[in-house]
Amino acid sequence: MHYLCKLEIINTYTPILMLKNKDENRTPLSSLGEFGLIEHLTKHFTVSQESTLKGVGDDAAVIKSEQAQVLTTDLLIEGVHFDLAYMPLKHLGYKAVVVNLSDVYAMNAKATQITVSIAVSNRFSLEALEELYAGIQTACKVYNVDLVGGDTSSSVTGLIISITAVGVANEDQIVYRDGASDTDLLVVSGDLGAAHMGMQVLEREKQVFKVNPNSQPDLEAYTYLIERQLKPEARKDITELLEALDVKPTSMIDISDGLSSEVIHLTKASDIGCNVYEDKIPMDPQFINVCEEFEVDSTTMALNGGEDYELLFTIKSEDFPKIKGNPNLTVIGHMTKASEGVHLITRANTKIPIVARGWNSLK
Ligand code: ADP
Ligand code: MG
Repeated sequence: MHYLCKLEIINTYTPILMLKNKDENRTPLSSLGEFGLIEHLTKHFTVSQESTLKGVGDDAAVIKSEQAQVLTTDLLIEGVHFDLAYMPLKHLGYKAVVVNLSDVYAMNAKATQITVSIAVSNRFSLEALEELYAGIQTACKVYNVDLVGGDTSSSVTGLIISITAVGVANEDQIVYRDGASDTDLLVVSGDLGAAHMGMQVLEREKQVFKVNPNSQPDLEAYTYLIERQLKPEARKDITELLEALDVKPTSMIDISDGLSSEVIHLTKASDIGCNVYEDKIPMDPQFINVCEEFEVDSTTMALNGGEDYELLFTIKSEDFPKIKGNPNLTVIGHMTKASEGVHLITRANTKIPIVARGWNSLK
């Protein structure tokens, strides 16, 4: 199962499924010992943030800061959050960092450091972990964050990764979920739903592979979707763009669970309502095509798919001229009084309640 997709960090990949039977080039982890392993995996990392006073190598990292610090953690478990049958380890490393940084940017902060903790079973070789760390290192370079520590342990089965990200911001620049008011506009970056449909395509190929391991999937028509699933990006650029445009969002969240869930989070936290317009939800043409192919409703997928890692935020209506016409930003709705509820206004101009993880299309 070699997917030949146009991914920036790797061109071809060998999923674990294939590696199990090919034992050339496999160094067992036990041959290094914990200390040797940490040293081996982290020796190519350099630190570039001025605030990193001490990175890997002491009992704790030391970070200097005069600004407010933002701290976030994610836990990723094999079989729950990722499937190594189609997730190459290099991509997994990259994505694990990116999803964490996305939370830092969603606070309107600048990400500066991460720690990476892993638990691995003896199923994994040194070469497999080198791949994982190569992805982590690429993400550190792309987003300019320092790896400053972590922990290493064995696990009975599978792979567990926990990443913590640190960021900084001036206290008055931090954007919370609860700052929206009922006259604000709702804005989203990028387009939605593609990562979810990318996973649907990969799941389908996995089933085909199980039946015929020699099949070579043609994924040419799905490259964008697969890239969104296997190599998502965090919208650091959007926080920088907003700063350049002199727009401070009144509330913000990153889209990890799907637009509908995140709209609910913002409206609940801010104690307001919201109207989202179906015809405004940004979608990529490839996403629309694949929804037709899978015979699923594109709006439902864009609302509930998740893993987009786009930023969803509210702005004061007087800031609208500053963002108007920007191809990276789409106004998809407006906030309302809490008593008006949270609704999707469909193309047919009907009002459907948005509920967390789904909207009721039968009503
Ligand atoms: P301790 O026993 O004091 O926790 P460790 O031997 O676990 O120390 O770690 C030694 C150093 O290596 C520390 O700086 C720690 O943060 C770092 N480290 C440990 N595991 C990892 C890892 N998987 N990735 C990056 N850094 C790590
Ligand atoms: Mg330790």
